[in-house]
Amino acid sequence: MSKEAIIFKTKEEIELMRMSAQLVSKTLGIIAEHIEPGISTLALDKLAETYIRDHGGTPGFLGLYDFPNTLCMSPNAQVVHGIPTDKPLENGDIISVDCGVLMNGFYGDHAYTFEVGEVSAAVKQLLEVTKKSLYLGIEQCKAGNRIGDIGHAIQNYTESFGYGVVKELVGHGLGRTMHEEPQVPNYGKRGRGKLLKNGMVLAIEPMINMGTAKIHQLNDGWTILTRDRLASAHFEHDVAIVDGQPDILSTFDYIYQALERKKA
Ligand code: MG
Ligand code: MG
Repeated sequence: MSKEAIIFKTKEEIELMRMSAQLVSKTLGIIAEHIEPGISTLALDKLAETYIRDHGGTPGFLGLYDFPNTLCMSPNAQVVHGIPTDKPLENGDIISVDCGVLMNGFYGDHAYTFEVGEVSAAVKQLLEVTKKSLYLGIEQCKAGNRIGDIGHAIQNYTESFGYGVVKELVGHGLGRTMHEEPQVPNYGKRGRGKLLKNGMVLAIEPMINMGTAKIHQLNDGWTILTRDRLASAHFEHDVAIVDGQPDILSTFDYIYQALERKKA
């Protein structure tokens, strides 16, 4: 863990960060609108890039550590950091879509794992449990709690289903840079780790595997996938601690609205 200091945000800065987070939320809503069997992750990536630029932002991942695209697109056994391709999505796939923007000097960074067509009941459960664990982690984002309380909540819940919690990749502080202190592991012990205080903004992002927690990286230098090639899910929100309580700056509502419209 690096020794860099945690950068606390004022309420005014948190409002700017909410705008960045909400632009990511709306971009994920556009993705939700278009995701279906037959579309490629590269086509979705282009839609996202255009939408972000048309709405006053800059893609946050493009060029960051030399990442080549706007979205990290990680289907099925890929955990995170997948690179968009021209391969069409297929019925029964799941796809983690992770999006970052830079706007007004602050980053937004959040993610959702989508179902493509009809997915199996077992995979549906993995998605539901992972998403619920994100909110259980967020509940712990209170002044006076510690980083370990967040990870403990996520780990305790997801492991009760026999799932594997990815340990090598973690959530993080967020602000004028994409990855700030503190690191936010998705595992931990209650009452351990750094103290949570007002003005912290954290990207909380459980990465949960259906089988083994073990991962490996493809030799593209990016793609992380499960060692047993079973599915992996990933959900992420940007959360500020304000007046002692968690304030979720991002939202999945645009995704839910798009999915409802498609059902109708
Ligand atoms: Mg992310
Ligand atoms: Mg993140």
